[in-house]
Amino acid sequence: MLTRTEGIVLRTQKYGEADLIATYLTSDRGIIKAFAKSPRKTGSRFGSSLEPLTHARISLWGKEQASLPKITQSDIINSFHRIRESFQDFISASRLVEILISLVPEGIPNKRLFSFFLNILHAVRSSEQESKDTLHLITLVRLLAAVGYAPGLEGCGKCGERSLVFYPDSGTTLCGRCAGPKTGAAKPHMRIHDNTIRFYTHSIEWPVHISDRLKPGREILAELSLLLDKHITYLLSRKLMSSEFSAGTK
Ligand SMILES: [Zn+2]
Repeated sequence: MLTRTEGIVLRTQKYGEADLIATYLTSDRGIIKAFAKSPRKTGSRFGSSLEPLTHARISLWGKEQASLPKITQSDIINSFHRIRESFQDFISASRLVEILISLVPEGIPNKRLFSFFLNILHAVRSSEQESKDTLHLITLVRLLAAVGYAPGLEGCGKCGERSLVFYPDSGTTLCGRCAGPKTGAAKPHMRIHDNTIRFYTHSIEWPVHISDRLKPGREILAELSLLLDKHITYLLSRKLMSSEFSAGTK
């Protein structure tokens, strides 16, 4: 059966000598993998439509539940080559891709996530150099929120009490009482400032296209960026460990 959809290439992996497996975020099938036969032989346009972050209209051939349909046609809607050509933009986008691939299960339709990610790519592509650091941080926060893994910074995650101490292994700030008694080695934690929480809240709530009006200071950017690093490192390592575990027990 032939199906058509729109997809954004998240990544490609070599398969055999000349073939590729592409992972897409699609508009109506969620994250899927598809097989590309000799993309380098069949002409450069097909090959370049498989570059990471390319937004394309694709035709897939395979049974409805086939785990690896074949890409029979792929037409570029947006190449987003400007993102790939900027080291900083590409690193930032690659981190978003890693989060999507690690935290979003395959094959679950999510139109909103697709439009949301497409909007992010448009915003990054057209961003001004001086607002890039802020925008990259905002896109990271918003993607985590969109997939349900944003850190909880608005009060203690257990009782709601005001707190300025973030605990990566809980994914939230905790008050002194809820964090538990300080015996032995203290749980890893990080002190944060009120201003950082305020910026974080705005970055989730404001529409992406006006987020360049947010102008946080250097310290806020540095603090939030460190916090997100800790949060994501914990999230992804736990996720990877747990998926390895479940794969081994099936
Ligand atoms: Zn508490």
